[in-house]
Amino acid sequence: ADHCFEYPAHPDEFNWSELYPEIGQNKVEFADIGCGYGGFLITLGNLFPEKYAVGMEIRVKVSDYVVDRIKALRELHPHKYNNVACLRTNAMKYLPNFFHKGQLSKMFFLYPDPHFKKAKHKWRIINSSSLSEYAYVLRKGGLVYTITDVKDLHEWMVKYFNWHPSFEQVQDTELKEDPIVDKLYQSSEEGIKVARNKGDHFVAVFRRI
Ligand code: SAM
Repeated sequence: ADHCFEYPAHPDEFNWSELYPEIGQNKVEFADIGCGYGGFLITLGNLFPEKYAVGMEIRVKVSDYVVDRIKALRELHPHKYNNVACLRTNAMKYLPNFFHKGQLSKMFFLYPDPHFKKAKHKWRIINSSSLSEYAYVLRKGGLVYTITDVKDLHEWMVKYFNWHPSFEQVQDTELKEDPIVDKLYQSSEEGIKVARNKGDHFVAVFRRI
């Protein structure tokens, strides 16, 4: 069913080689949370061929699509795209089941669902309780990248990250030197849609301290 998830009791119990044909152990370093149709995940795989990236997506059909998309890319380009994979899960709940403390060096929240109504704000993927779980799986110095076209959501994310004792905001001068920031705007399907509609993009990056 749509809301039944399989997840390991402990990160060591998950068989990562089912997702990545050449992976030795649990070496995933990048997580694209709510990866949607996977455009950014695949961009990451190209940018960082030596790093393992996982896309986490809660919707069955969408995650199935990304799995098929990566399978097709691997068939078309032998020995490429073995460093990216998509996992269907609820990333708000199960990250510590998949990752050790301090395992991730980068997390991405690209165009997360805005849940506009006040009563739905608790469903926002960035909130006061989820941030502690994200801090747990991120290593010190690790980065969280966020982008949205919704100003209110941007302000909400900045507010919670700055409030949380484990995070500090990365300054704009530093962002200019990060090659990933440019890719946030238009690699994901949602980013392409926002750009096509000439919408706003609000970027914010936070460091795990
Ligand atoms: N990041 C993608 C992009 O930029 O194209 C998708 C953006 S879409 C607006 C938000 C995605 O997050 C949806 O595909 C949704 O199913 C997924 N999502 C929402 N809550 C989630 C959760 N708790 N765990 C995993 N994925 C989630």
